[in-house]
Amino acid sequence: MSKSLLVTGGAGFIASNFIHYIMQRYPDYKIINIDKLTYAGSDANVQEIAASDNYQFIKGDIADGQLINWIFNEYDVDGVIHFAAESHVDRSINDAKAFIESNVLGTNVLLQAARDAWEKKGELAIRRFHQISTDEVYGSLDLETDEKFHEQTPYDPRNPYSASKAGADMLVKSFGQTYGMNVVTSSSSNNYGPQQHSEKLIPTIISNALQGKPIPLYGDGKNVRDWLYVEDHCRAIDLIFHEGKKLEKYNVGGNNERTNIELSMMICDILDHLKPEHYSHKELITYIGDRKGHDRRYAVDDSKIRNTLGWKPSTTLNDGLNKTVEWYIDQWEKAIL
Ligand code: NAD
Repeated sequence: MSKSLLVTGGAGFIASNFIHYIMQRYPDYKIINIDKLTYAGSDANVQEIAASDNYQFIKGDIADGQLINWIFNEYDVDGVIHFAAESHVDRSINDAKAFIESNVLGTNVLLQAARDAWEKKGELAIRRFHQISTDEVYGSLDLETDEKFHEQTPYDPRNPYSASKAGADMLVKSFGQTYGMNVVTSSSSNNYGPQQHSEKLIPTIISNALQGKPIPLYGDGKNVRDWLYVEDHCRAIDLIFHEGKKLEKYNVGGNNERTNIELSMMICDILDHLKPEHYSHKELITYIGDRKGHDRRYAVDDSKIRNTLGWKPSTTLNDGLNKTVEWYIDQWEKAIL
């Protein structure tokens, strides 16, 4: 059945991959993409589909209530998949204001506009609002334990970014509980893949290595993240949006826990093979002072989505990193030509 979906933040990393994925999988769907085009968003990420009949781009702020209400009046939005956010922890540590405005206030504006529009149609309990969240809302795990975050783990955000995402998640849940809105939330581990902004860890490793610059790792380099290939995340979002249970939460993980050193070594091995130099790229790895309040380890238990919706990641870390490195090499070569 054809649907009109409002995707927020669709010029960013994950949502632009998601829009490509969803338009290919559901050619009948209409996608409305609202993005403020902050430093993190790029037209280039959605250039390929920009002229498609079933795609509409709107440059704007999700915290702009007038604009968001206009969108709900103009389009018969069947569902919202809400990605738009300020997303870089380091920036939130420097100044949290934009994180509160976009992540908390912006989410509230979207929820309210969706509620108003869907209530008028008598479809508040049917049309779906899907909140894209992060495993960072759960806090930090010890390196020594086998424990992972599960859906019932209490929220314990430890930096302004994760606090703002936790606040947004709570608002989403409250609209479900209070007004009976059909909300669902998914929390994923660290994503990687094409089209991620250059300030994030994997693009930084690749681009510095390609330029022969030092590869900076925070602290002792032993912080652990669980890496999820972005296309596997897109498949999970598709399933959760269409089949996930109202008011529920789903963790999505990559089952690829690695320390930052291990991850950098893997990327350097790939670069040594694809772009050999007279030295190994590993020699470029350097340690810098630690991030304030740096969470030690994140890892999610995603057995719920595996057991109830039949999802599992299909890209191994090695394959995903190879595809990612190849994509960045291609971009880099185009840029220097
Ligand atoms: P990103 O920074 O690459 O993209 C965010 C997009 O949102 C950008 O295009 C930006 O222009 C847009 N945006 C920001 N504020 C806006 C506003 N006020 N109005 C409209 N658009 C706005 O982020 P990402 O890494 O793709 O993350 C997307 C979502 O997924 C975020 O909600 C993030 O919390 C969540 N998430 C990310 C990861 C990850 O590893 N990247 C992991 C788990 C969850």
